[in-house]
Amino acid sequence: MAFASVLGFLANLESSIGLEAFPKYRQEGAEKSDAPFLLFFVGFTLLVYLLETYLDLRQHRNLKAGTPPPTLLEVLKTVDEDNKGLEAVSKVESKFSASQAYGLDKSRFHFFDSTFDLVVGLTTNLLGWMPWLWDVSSGLVAKAGLGDWGGDIPTSLTFVVLTMVLQTLIGLPFSLYSTFVVEAKHGFNKQTLGLFFADKVKSMLLTVVISVPVLSCVLKIIELGGKHFYVYVWAFMFCFSILMLTIVPTVIMPMFNTYSPLEDGELKSSIENLAKRVSFPLTNLFSVDGSKRSAHSNAYFYGFFKNKRIVLYDTLIKQADTNEIVSILGHELGHWKMSHTLQGFVISQTYLLASFCAFGLATELGESLRLSFGYSTSATLITLYLFFAVMWAPVDHLLGVFMNVLSRKNEFEADAYAVKLGYSKGLQSGLVKLQLENLGNMNPDPWYSAFHYSHPPLVERLQAMRTDIGIKRE
Ligand SMILES: [Zn+2]
Repeated sequence: MAFASVLGFLANLESSIGLEAFPKYRQEGAEKSDAPFLLFFVGFTLLVYLLETYLDLRQHRNLKAGTPPPTLLEVLKTVDEDNKGLEAVSKVESKFSASQAYGLDKSRFHFFDSTFDLVVGLTTNLLGWMPWLWDVSSGLVAKAGLGDWGGDIPTSLTFVVLTMVLQTLIGLPFSLYSTFVVEAKHGFNKQTLGLFFADKVKSMLLTVVISVPVLSCVLKIIELGGKHFYVYVWAFMFCFSILMLTIVPTVIMPMFNTYSPLEDGELKSSIENLAKRVSFPLTNLFSVDGSKRSAHSNAYFYGFFKNKRIVLYDTLIKQADTNEIVSILGHELGHWKMSHTLQGFVISQTYLLASFCAFGLATELGESLRLSFGYSTSATLITLYLFFAVMWAPVDHLLGVFMNVLSRKNEFEADAYAVKLGYSKGLQSGLVKLQLENLGNMNPDPWYSAFHYSHPPLVERLQAMRTDIGIKRE
């Protein structure tokens, strides 16, 4: 009853603000919808934009501060006993204005980028460009003589490929500006225009080659799966995830970068000792030429069961000393010891199953949903696309915030693990160094970081590590 009156209220609101006349383009036979999904979509999109912009403004204000926050300097003074603390304070003071300038440029760029996305998202849906694109796709399929073949699948695939190509083209100026203006101005961009375009073409081709067969299978499974189709879709996607976890690092990433075995020497033997000490089944140790694209640095591990590999960016090897790199890897192996990667995998699989189950429950609303956005076609792809873009969007946003909270908790745990191994000093000075080299934000807004940061701010990590040492000493 309450639900019906809410719907009635929204429908009235929709007509009183003139949304009834939208979308402008409707497919032949697409009548007016009986549910106010378009209003919901517009309202939710604006709400998210306002919230995000409010957070951006808070962060922007912090990026204008002229001096580092006193708590950070306080913590840095005691980074370790052999005078490195004072050294860290003076380094942070000297790099602070460069880091603020980089943060401000990124923040300004982000404002234009997200506002442009908002305008494109709203106009696309209000003018009905997507149902129009569907009609174009279906026309192309008919012209190719595939109209009677495989139901809606050829049109669905054409629609997806066209959407991807258009999205890449629309985003291209922003992507170019971010790389060749913002990153370049602060000394991070190392790639040429040739490499940039080669990357774009390669990744677009790969996306098409991978997503076309996967999407065809998912659509077929939904069509044939009956009432419990979501279980079969999930089982299929589970196998696909395992396949991707195997081929992404071994086949796909080497298409973009060169992975070479780490040279024999102190660094290699220290890492091998660390792996032995914590029984990490290390089978290969690589260095990757990240410097080909950017001066930012990183390290990670991957692989199943007894076959794990560690990858170090060449930029990290250049920026940090052996003890710091080993300490950072001590932190990484903490993620492995505490099953954080497995936890992430379980969460993503549960999410997948829940989202398709919800999609199954929402199929009754499918027609009203499609009509709200101007479609008369009953193609599964469109229902699926609108379900995720409209009905499931709030869940996605909440989950994103939750995942950041969880990730920050995991980061603290991995730091504590490295501290327990005796890497407190190395990890603290390593983190400070990476923060300086990457010009990371040293003065983040607490609300902004609570919503957006997957890693806790430097000052919080250093404070927590000191508490960990304190506990050990007592
Ligand atoms: Zn971590």
